[in-house]
Amino acid sequence: MTLGRRAALRALAVLGAAGPVAACQTGGDPAASPTASTRSTPTPPPATPTTPPGPPTSLEAMIEARLGALPDPGAPVGDVKHLSEGLASRACANGTLYASSQGAFLVPADVEARWLTVHNLIGYPTSEVEPWVDGRRQRFWGGNVIIAPGDQAAPLRLDVVVNKLRPLVPLDYSPPDLVQWRGITIRDSIRADAEAMFVAAASQGVTLLAVSGFRTYAYQVSLFEGYQQTSGPEQTLIRSARPGYSEHQTGFAFDVAGDQGCVLSACFAETNAARWVEAHAFEFGFCVRYGLEQGAITGYDYEPWHLRYVGREVAAEMVARKIYTLEQFYGLPAAPNYA
Ligand SMILES: [Zn+2]
Repeated sequence: MTLGRRAALRALAVLGAAGPVAACQTGGDPAASPTASTRSTPTPPPATPTTPPGPPTSLEAMIEARLGALPDPGAPVGDVKHLSEGLASRACANGTLYASSQGAFLVPADVEARWLTVHNLIGYPTSEVEPWVDGRRQRFWGGNVIIAPGDQAAPLRLDVVVNKLRPLVPLDYSPPDLVQWRGITIRDSIRADAEAMFVAAASQGVTLLAVSGFRTYAYQVSLFEGYQQTSGPEQTLIRSARPGYSEHQTGFAFDVAGDQGCVLSACFAETNAARWVEAHAFEFGFCVRYGLEQGAITGYDYEPWHLRYVGREVAAEMVARKIYTLEQFYGLPAAPNYA
């Protein structure tokens, strides 16, 4: 067990779902922040039982009770394992039961296989499997594991996640429903909520300007190459995406500015526009995709101007559960670097 994982589990056990009060785009939860260990191959919790530090009989009791209550967990095929302080498991025919301060839940085998690749990011289960859009999901302390047809790889899907490990398919993808809106190009499906957001900001005396929306693959080629020439490879890595790896190419993202300058600059965070967006964008289905100190997960520096449409339902859940990145929300690996 790595130090990072141990610390995370301890934090999970102590904190439960508590975290800093913030919108989905702000800051980060120290308990959920990745460490270097996030990027290493995770050690599957069931394979690493440790000597129980105390007598956590309550976890055993929770597992036993759950075994009796679940409709179809399958028969137990192993003994209760104490994985760390506050976490125990028992393998069953149809998955593994995990018990923690959040309760005891059955993690089915297909969900568990995905979860074991990201457990450092999202902690342990807090719900049973439930229907989700056109697939299934299970909630974990700091995110979800979603089993969906197409696995969110199709850029037509609203829940598509594009990052340094998940390029667009095909690489030169272009959405079919692009429209012009306030001087930029976005998908028609996000226009109504984008407009509602800008109107709401204006009604509260805050000017929002749309700066950059959909970008073609070819345009990203020129942007990326230009960035490399002016800023060097290191800065380019955390500030600009390779062609085919940019969220702008999905048509679900755009950059905003205000009337106080600092366009696409770090000082934008101190403007009225940034503060308004941070507090209210989620109400319209947007989140600030590259949050403060989330670079080890998202792969990018803080970009308080970069908004990603995820839909009002997902945005509200991100805020309610204090999940700050799409990688965590959808139970996907951290993507600090290209493969
Ligand atoms: Zn952007």
